[in-house]
Amino acid sequence: MTKHLDILIIGAGISGLLAARELRLAGREVTILDKSKPGLESSWAGGGILLPIYPWRQAPAISDLAVASLKKYPGLSQELLAATGIDPEWYDCGMLICKNPDYQQAIDWCQHYGIEYRPASTELTEPFTSTYQQPLWLPEIAQARNPRLLKSLYAYLQQAGVQFIDNTDIRKIAVANRQVSQVETVDRKYTVKQLIVSAGAWTTDLMNYLLPDWPLDLQIRPVRGQMLLFDATPTTLPYMVLDGDQYLIPRRDGKILAGSTVEQAGFDKITTDNAKQQLYQFATELLPSLKNYPVCHHWAGLRPGSPQGIPYIGRHPDLENLSINAGHFRNGLVMGPASAQLLADLILERPTEIDPAPYSLTRPAQP
Ligand SMILES: Cc1cc2nc3c(=O)[nH]c(=O)nc-3n(C[C@H](O)[C@H](O)[C@H](O)COP(=O)(O)OP(=O)(O)OC[C@H]3O[C@@H](n4cnc5c(N)ncnc54)[C@H](O)[C@@H]3O)c2cc1C
Repeated sequence: MTKHLDILIIGAGISGLLAARELRLAGREVTILDKSKPGLESSWAGGGILLPIYPWRQAPAISDLAVASLKKYPGLSQELLAATGIDPEWYDCGMLICKNPDYQQAIDWCQHYGIEYRPASTELTEPFTSTYQQPLWLPEIAQARNPRLLKSLYAYLQQAGVQFIDNTDIRKIAVANRQVSQVETVDRKYTVKQLIVSAGAWTTDLMNYLLPDWPLDLQIRPVRGQMLLFDATPTTLPYMVLDGDQYLIPRRDGKILAGSTVEQAGFDKITTDNAKQQLYQFATELLPSLKNYPVCHHWAGLRPGSPQGIPYIGRHPDLENLSINAGHFRNGLVMGPASAQLLADLILERPTEIDPAPYSLTRPAQP
């Protein structure tokens, strides 16, 4: 039997879940389908730093979504906690950035986007063994605890009446009159008013496989990231620290994440001894007291890599009721709330707060 759906979202990571929230808040009926269970892929594996790494070295399109999202996180987090009792642990612990050869560029960026900054004091730099270059302290930068944010969002959406279809693969997408007319899984057929694809690193393959006659040049590729978790105590490290391309993130309960690797390894989520050693060495050299605590977890996730890390957000150029929200690379959490709002605005034909052009599905291919 064919079931009729208003909005179907493929992919229940942070991108799909936040899009579901926006559209549900606008009064739409939303269903989310995932090949496994919600929030177990990249969104679970990430560090939850709510700042792109050195945003002043990246495209303004990333900063625009990130800074708009930063403003939404405290309210979103409170709303989720109040509704579900599950705390996403939004925590404005601040971030120390050890090496800033482009200090002036960093300051200009902070001033432009209204982000508070200070030269880092010796009190802040003292605990670490680093070769400092104009260390910078960003006191308001926050983090969220990925697994809890996702759990809370999932519970919130269930309460709000969003339907979930777990552990289900899509077999076929049928098109008629330039519209997605039917979505077929192993055991059901669905007609949809709107289809959204937010399948993270799998988005390009999914689109190419299911819609070969409607090609899009989406360049989303998996980029593996490995993380190490230390079972430390709450006083070990009071704030986040970024040194070169690697960082430490202290959770409220004292656990400390050390991340991360950036590897081209296809869809292989395996963890490696090499990465474990390298992350352990980085972490314990930067903060020697970490040697006193055991490593309690080591994992890998697949970031949805995209050209310049700019996500694809928008409507399909040829299929009127198909949209995409994917390709957030290293910044899916920090760009998540504003990305979801932009997508919802485009689907609902509301004015957008952010210019959608840089995220277009048909933007020129970039290296
Ligand atoms: C080690 C690491 C550290 C990171 N640190 C940060 C950070 O500090 N801050 C930050 O902002 N970002 C960080 N990121 C990046 C961030 O995690 C990602 O950008 C973000 O999670 C992408 O979310 P997503 O929902 O698009 O993808 P995902 O979370 O991967 O979700 C995609 C979903 O689609 C589903 N799916 C895939 N194929 C199909 C299919 N065929 N049918 C149905 N469902 C399907 C998957 O099962 C999955 O649930 C980090 C990532 C990693 C790996």
